[in-house]
Amino acid sequence: MDALTTSERDHLATMLRQRKQPLRDEIRSGLARMRTEGYEELLSGTSDAGDESVATLLTDIANAEVARDAAELQDIIAAQARLAAGTYGTCIDCGTPIPYARLTAYPTAKRCLHCQQIRETTRAPFTRP
Ligand SMILES: [Zn+2]
Repeated sequence: MDALTTSERDHLATMLRQRKQPLRDEIRSGLARMRTEGYEELLSGTSDAGDESVATLLTDIANAEVARDAAELQDIIAAQARLAAGTYGTCIDCGTPIPYARLTAYPTAKRCLHCQQIRETTRAPFTRP
């Protein structure tokens, strides 16, 4: 498999850049939502255990969304660092070029599909692509 061409690399760099800003906005609004619709405010004026568990659940969901967005943003920042270092698009496990098709689907992919599958079958679940 061939390494990325300059135009392919530029396209992926643009994809990463374009994804970054909305993600930042999502994290910001997610954090704002947690503050304004947070646990304490949902609880204010109520002492019902049912409301409390709903509030806890909503907070957990909001936390999970923000955590997921933050993890994706970190992946993008790491991918941009690899772009700057010239190691982007190379599998971190076996060192072969990651196919362009895989990178357009997962611009933050660190591994080729083969190594990713090995990782997913040998490691705990919930690993990210
Ligand atoms: Zn690999």
